[in-house]
Amino acid sequence: EQDPLPPELENKGSARDRKAFSVDVIRSDEIQEARLGLPVVAEEQKIMEAIYDNPVVIIWGATGSGKTTQVPQFLFEAGYGTSDSPNPGMIGVTQPRRVAAVSMAKRVDDELGGLREKVAYQIRFDSSVSNKTAIKFMTDGILIREITNDFALLKYSIIVIDEAHERSANTDILIGMVSRIVDLRATMNKEDAKVRPLKLVIMSATLRVTDFLENPNLFRNGKPPLIQVEGRQFPVATHFSRRTQRDYVDEAFHKVCRGHKKLPPGGMLVFLTGQNEITSLAKRLKDALANTHGSHTGHKVRIAAGEAPLETEDIELGMSMSQYDQLEENDDDEEDVFDELDDKEFEVEDETPASSQVHILPLYSQLQTKDQLKVFEKPPENARLIVLATNVAETSLTIPGIRYVFDTGRAKDKRYDEQTGVQSFEVGWISKASASQRAGRAGRTGPGHCYRLYSSAVYERDFKEHAEPEILRIPVEGVILQLKSMDLQHVVNFPFPTPPDRQSLAKAEKLLCYLGALSPEGKITSIGRQLSHYPLSPRFSKMLTIGHQHECTPYTVALVAALATPNLFIPENQLGLAVPNQTEIYTNGDRLADEARTKLRSAYDHAHHLFSRKSSTSDALKALTALCAYAYAPSKDDFCKEMFLSPKSLHEASNLRSQLTTIVHNNNLTTLPSTLPLQLPAPSKIQISALQQFIAAAFIDQIAILASSSPIPPDLPRKPTRAIDVPYLPLFPIKTKRRADTDIIDVAVFIHPSSVLAHTAVKDLPTYIIYSRLQRGNPATIEGAKKPRTRMHALTAVTGKQIAGLAKGT
Ligand code: ADP
Ligand code: MG
Repeated sequence: EQDPLPPELENKGSARDRKAFSVDVIRSDEIQEARLGLPVVAEEQKIMEAIYDNPVVIIWGATGSGKTTQVPQFLFEAGYGTSDSPNPGMIGVTQPRRVAAVSMAKRVDDELGGLREKVAYQIRFDSSVSNKTAIKFMTDGILIREITNDFALLKYSIIVIDEAHERSANTDILIGMVSRIVDLRATMNKEDAKVRPLKLVIMSATLRVTDFLENPNLFRNGKPPLIQVEGRQFPVATHFSRRTQRDYVDEAFHKVCRGHKKLPPGGMLVFLTGQNEITSLAKRLKDALANTHGSHTGHKVRIAAGEAPLETEDIELGMSMSQYDQLEENDDDEEDVFDELDDKEFEVEDETPASSQVHILPLYSQLQTKDQLKVFEKPPENARLIVLATNVAETSLTIPGIRYVFDTGRAKDKRYDEQTGVQSFEVGWISKASASQRAGRAGRTGPGHCYRLYSSAVYERDFKEHAEPEILRIPVEGVILQLKSMDLQHVVNFPFPTPPDRQSLAKAEKLLCYLGALSPEGKITSIGRQLSHYPLSPRFSKMLTIGHQHECTPYTVALVAALATPNLFIPENQLGLAVPNQTEIYTNGDRLADEARTKLRSAYDHAHHLFSRKSSTSDALKALTALCAYAYAPSKDDFCKEMFLSPKSLHEASNLRSQLTTIVHNNNLTTLPSTLPLQLPAPSKIQISALQQFIAAAFIDQIAILASSSPIPPDLPRKPTRAIDVPYLPLFPIKTKRRADTDIIDVAVFIHPSSVLAHTAVKDLPTYIIYSRLQRGNPATIEGAKKPRTRMHALTAVTGKQIAGLAKGT
């Protein structure tokens, strides 16, 4: 008879349960030895007893202490996940990141060696789960989807929600959901003894768990126990840069090169924000460091001439870089950190510098699994491991042998634009808590160093203490839709660890009804289920789901991208896209090569074509035109200049356009090629009309009707002479916040002077207008206005027929 535990651990674990049932596991000596070094393993008994005695347990332990790899094994050995044990359901472990779900499953499988197929993973589009699976690693999105089909999660005996400190929206939603399912399973157990109670374990790498612990709404049966696992952390010396460079990838390149030349042996871990940065830096480092063997020429690394410039994203971090310059010591000394550091370091450690061989590995989500796992392998003899990673290496994965961390201080974050409702990924500063986690990566195996590629002034001033929970940063409509897709009726009563504002929840629910995503009773509809698959505000998702009609998909995608990007037009010239006629193009074009001229002509033609049609009555289609024409322009900058467009916004809109293409493709519109042509022909009349209708469908609650076609409110000009003075009435009442000291909104709304419709003759104004935004006017700027007027922005004229079409649901 084999006992899985070494003698010194033999008596750990609650006697009654261990005796009642346990599973034997045979591990290799090597694995066993590594396990014994993990702080979590020393706490197995405490952890298991807490789990036996409580429905919900919270475990806090520093990154690398063994939570993710060991806790599922404790559970497995105690009989969870084993069909003939008292706790037969699967052990479900959720991760916010796919990389972690896959690689942790592989690791646990290896550690349990000989139990193949017991450990599996499931991520979107990929799964290794079978009917033998006992431990299932998955992304939190997958578990959310499963709850939709199996509300009591009957397949599981225990759910482990990992990385809870990250506070991803899915994690928060899951904690709320599963806390209720735990209660539900307890009641079911009373009625049907075959149904086992469900346990919940929440694991966090930081002590920021008060939102879960001190939340009576969340765990109604009392505060769950918090088990702390003492980590072993070696000291890490942190070095700030004197200056914060805007091009942090370039900065990372120089620092890593110099560090490699000067620092004693030890792995390096560089935190970047995404795949592009990682691959380009990897290439650059390889070129610069690969063949340096035996050619030591002092400590400065010379960069090969003619090297391709590194592409980095243009970041806006709330202040201009010149402001940073003022903030920081005005010291142009390029040699900062390493010069100071070297002396210090050599004093302390007295080691010979590392060999000049390097072993460079990337680590990011989209990387193939086998390549991801390379970071855990031993680097070649005598070579320095340099891992270039996204923040997946911050707490999800612990890479062995890291002694030096290079922290750019940035991460790609999901952002949400209140105005446009668009979610996007943007590069921004990380929090102080994240910075300290990153630094901590250098102190796993011995004392280490963390080089922060930003100054302490920037850190103090611009880094938040903790990242805000994601649920407060994403559209409420999206959150509601997600909950409703799990068949949750009363969203306001949902036990959010950090609840969004109630009023906006109610408002968003109404919008979802208008969009047809919810039935009048608040139940999710099939349209709602479709919309929930897009990472966009439901309005735009709606456009994309209906936008395939009349072969409009490529236009709809571009339209959403254009509408979702603010400030495409340069404000001083908002009054219209300047469309030169063809003669102008030819006379101007002498300096252009023939091919370029043809392209440019199509750009203008395209714009021209669209403008000559109905689109002069739509700001939305104007934006679409600008973006479509931009795709033809051989020189983007010249084009933007001539057309009074903002190059930065156009660039963003183009990026969003390609992202949306991928999303639409992934959402199973199988007829669609995965890349759509960027250079589109001008849309047909029918298509233009269809596009207008899509806009109306997305903004169905924002239709205004010409006031003369309905009773005119008193107090308004009887005979306006300019389009911008003509009153419209919103078909749906507008709710704006009522403030005691100011007027509430006007009954009527007016065309904004920047709209293409502002130039229409009063008699030609359309009866119905769709607006995407309302703006309260400033009395000083509106001539002759007695009180501030509410202006409609980004307008599209629609016909009564088109609106009637909406009612019919076409
Ligand atoms: P935590 O979840 O507490 O952060 P983990 O369980 O992820 O800790 O990691 C425990 C240890 O296991 C770490 O030292 C890590 O380096 C190691 N480890 C994890 N995955 C692998 C792997 N695939 N190969 C080798 N070591 C690994
Ligand atoms: Mg972990």
